Amino acid sequence: MTVYIFVTGGVVSSVGKGVTAAAIGTLLKARGLHVSIQKLDPYINVDPGTMSPYQHGEVFVLDDGAETDLDLGHYERFIDTSLSRVCNVTTGQIYSSVIAQERRGDFLGGTIQVIPHITNEIKRRIQQVPKETGASVVIVEVGGTVGDIESLPFLEALRQMRTDIGQQHTLYVHATWLPHIGATGELKTKPTQHSVRELRSIGIQPDVIIARSDYQVTEDLRAKIALFCDVAVRAVIPLTTTSVLYEVPLILEREGLGDYLMNRLGLEARQRPDWSEWEQLVAAERAPRPKVRIALVGKYVELQDAYMSVREAVRHAALAAGVEAEILWVHSAELEKDKGWDALRSAHGIIVPGGFGSRGIEGKIAAARYAREHQVPYLGLCLGMQVMVIEFARHVLGAEDANSTEFDRNTPHPVIDLLPEQRGIGDLGGTMRLGLYPCQLTPGSRAAEAYGVPQVQERHRHRFEFNNTYREILGEHGMVFSGLSPDGRLVEIAELADHPFMLGSQFHPEFLSRPNRPHPLFRSFMQAAAERARAHDSEARPQEQEAVE
Ligand code: GLN
Repeated sequence: MTVYIFVTGGVVSSVGKGVTAAAIGTLLKARGLHVSIQKLDPYINVDPGTMSPYQHGEVFVLDDGAETDLDLGHYERFIDTSLSRVCNVTTGQIYSSVIAQERRGDFLGGTIQVIPHITNEIKRRIQQVPKETGASVVIVEVGGTVGDIESLPFLEALRQMRTDIGQQHTLYVHATWLPHIGATGELKTKPTQHSVRELRSIGIQPDVIIARSDYQVTEDLRAKIALFCDVAVRAVIPLTTTSVLYEVPLILEREGLGDYLMNRLGLEARQRPDWSEWEQLVAAERAPRPKVRIALVGKYVELQDAYMSVREAVRHAALAAGVEAEILWVHSAELEKDKGWDALRSAHGIIVPGGFGSRGIEGKIAAARYAREHQVPYLGLCLGMQVMVIEFARHVLGAEDANSTEFDRNTPHPVIDLLPEQRGIGDLGGTMRLGLYPCQLTPGSRAAEAYGVPQVQERHRHRFEFNNTYREILGEHGMVFSGLSPDGRLVEIAELADHPFMLGSQFHPEFLSRPNRPHPLFRSFMQAAAERARAHDSEARPQEQEAVE
């Protein structure tokens, strides 16, 4: 029988509920259990695919092409499992399917209500996870904060599930925040008490409280939370903010959460947890390493969550290369106004990530030009690959007005153009080329060398592609098409022959990078950037000495 762990959040948002849910998954996976994680999002959009990154942060894409919440990225990185479409459910999806059933006449004669019709559909979606994945433990995170009007149907469904399948098979984890009062130097538990009261008023008594805080939580405080919230002392788990994300499972384990969950849910471990790999990861992250500066040239850089997986993939690759990546957030629209160039020029590597729409495009093209002309390692992710092609066509081939038809419909040189299968598609939601597709690597190329295998599968999310009319002429000028769809029709990777590392992929490699298995393209890029940092440091040093003398 499947057991369910429900994770809710209280007091404020951004307490790290997603990472907590993911880390709980790690604790149980380390004991040999088959774990899956699902996110319930209360917004009415069917998925985040049509939302602005400013509103929502990154859209994380799964193998099956589902466009999901960025927390699914945390889940995959922490439990090292590819999740499926059923793992992200929104209010929009729930209502769409209930309304479609109503129109079909499935409820003929009945009045359709939040309880039971909406809550039944929510429960059905939750129970689809073990059915589809075979997981014996399903962790379900509810987006938003307890007290929000829009998450009520989800919480009601979670409450009903305990009645439906029993106390033994359900467990409620509530993640809250302890504010710190500077004047008295105290941590306060009152907001946590209120949040638990709110949960209880809808019929849910938490079994575990994760007490997030920026400061150390004392035993006294732990006992106080236990007393006021009616939770066992050892089920109050302090979780102090850590600079190393991947330390969270180790902290929760140290506080006894893994064993507590196993006992409470009557689960039997298939193996003793071996934390050595995670401990090494955290120790490596803490160890002083030479710095490598990576410029991330995007247009949503004010909100770093928009590039969550890119940032994580950079970290993973830096760890593997034995360096510390310092990310310089460069706004592409600023580059167009002659700002931000000092940061760009100081970088040892440049990444142009994915994006949509024309704002900031010329700045990205200028960054790619700088990378090419100054031999700075460059990694282009989806739009970053398209930008690299446009730049090359303009300045190497001399096709001055080369562009993507996404930005200039009437360009005389549409080097990037709409995918033929995208023509005639009117709806914007869920209609891009999405999910996993195979890519054949060209022997002898940098891409083939990085991967070390002839064919790979990568995740996509785009409408535009390389225009094959330009394949021959750009090839003659030094662009190498090092990754193609198996039928040879689509360019999936382009790279430059005459450059230390200038490569762009039409797919998003960042979605498949894992903490202890960095993505091959990020790893090769980081090695090239580290190489440049070393070369520059050794050039810089004699001058510095002269200056001191
Ligand atoms: N806007 C581009 C396209 O649709 C790139 C998409 C992306 O970077 N994910 O092809």
